[in-house]
Amino acid sequence: MPMKLKKTETEDEIVVKRILHTKTYSLTLDKNRCTGCEICAVVCPKEVFEIKKQPKVAGEKLKHPIIEVDEQKCHFCGICGVLCPYGALKVRINDEHVVPVVKTESFPELIREINVDTTKCDVECVDCEEVCPLKLIKVSVQTPDGKKVKDVKSIRDKKKLKVIVDVKKEFCPCCRV
Ligand code: SF4
Ligand code: SF4
Repeated sequence: MPMKLKKTETEDEIVVKRILHTKTYSLTLDKNRCTGCEICAVVCPKEVFEIKKQPKVAGEKLKHPIIEVDEQKCHFCGICGVLCPYGALKVRINDEHVVPVVKTESFPELIREINVDTTKCDVECVDCEEVCPLKLIKVSVQTPDGKKVKDVKSIRDKKKLKVIVDVKKEFCPCCRV
């Protein structure tokens, strides 16, 4: 079957595509989310990834690793996407995010369960939002009728206010900081 392989790379991502007549498979690596943990390189059955960590320079921010993705080898199984703790890898079929190995029940699904008991939250506290190293948490406060409160301090009766804690679970490695 005629097939085209395509690899594009920008400052932010690497995209590998296999274009068939009726389907386009793609693997996207979000460079900004990748920490170079090497889990994908260990679990990929086709040895698609080569990861080179950048040396740490004193006084400078640690640079993102250099990752080589071999477009000839990937068969878009999705295992790397399931196991990347930072949600940096996605397999898509015709632009839809899918995990073929989970769909066919040949690999378990990773469930990131994060429960927040917001009834215990202080309405003026945003500690979790501030300490999350990946900036994945957004705390907001609502009135009983669902209106967003911009200035919590200005509300006299705070007992009726509701705290909403939104966590971007798919990118969370559950570090528990
Ligand atoms: S598993 Fe994810 S974070 Fe780790 S090296 Fe691979 S892409 Fe980067
Ligand atoms: S989709 Fe499968 S073959 Fe392709 S890089 Fe990920 S684990 Fe390897």
